[in-house]
Amino acid sequence: MSIITRRFITISKNQIFFLTNNYFNTVVTQKPITQSSTQPVKTLLTSSKCSHQRFVFQSSNEKKCWNCKAEIKKISNFICDKCRKLQDISEESDFFELLSLPRDFDIPSTKLTKIFRQLQTLVHPDKFGNKTEREQANSAEWSALINKAYKTLSHPLVRGQYLLKLHGVEMPHDNSALNKEFLLEMMEKNEEVDEAVSIEDLNSINEKIQEEIDSEIGKLKALFASNDLNGAKAVLVKMKYLMSIQSSIQAKLEKLVNG
Ligand SMILES: [Zn+2]
Repeated sequence: MSIITRRFITISKNQIFFLTNNYFNTVVTQKPITQSSTQPVKTLLTSSKCSHQRFVFQSSNEKKCWNCKAEIKKISNFICDKCRKLQDISEESDFFELLSLPRDFDIPSTKLTKIFRQLQTLVHPDKFGNKTEREQANSAEWSALINKAYKTLSHPLVRGQYLLKLHGVEMPHDNSALNKEFLLEMMEKNEEVDEAVSIEDLNSINEKIQEEIDSEIGKLKALFASNDLNGAKAVLVKMKYLMSIQSSIQAKLEKLVNG
């Protein structure tokens, strides 16, 4: 249980707003000091109109269905086993946990896509159109969260950066840590793209870069598997550059194709 800086503002008799820098990750079990009522904070917040306030106050060891109060097991995170009501979203779990995947870089894309589609079908807003307002709001929120998780985990660079972040490792914000040789190599690649005049030339450069990216992805699998986070970080920085060159190629190709 981590202690976080928190501030409670009483808006009205039954609305308490909670502010913190990263409230999505916040778990609160204590009552706010400003609260005078003997009623628990959670009960007060359930009646709040602001949807984002609901899940903030859910404690990880206190997961109960909002409707029938049955215990919500991890596996039935989305829908209550007993009353089948769609639960409030919980941002306590990371994207791997949300999609029932091991926290690993090496994820088969077919498996990821299959899980993503299954979950999107489960929480799809169309299925909750004639359900309670709370379920309608929940389905939109789950849907957005599952999309975000899929977007993050399906892209190797973004997935790698996300994994590093989960391990508390930040990507460098500038290129001061990069060696000259590497920067020179990237500069040459950029020049090659600048000088290319035909679709064929651009496609050929793109192919070479894609080969390099694929090779870096192979390295990342091994590095994350052996928990070499600094090694993974170095490869991710290189990948970021390669992918940025690919974007330039793509932009130039589009220009050429569209005249
Ligand atoms: Zn229930």
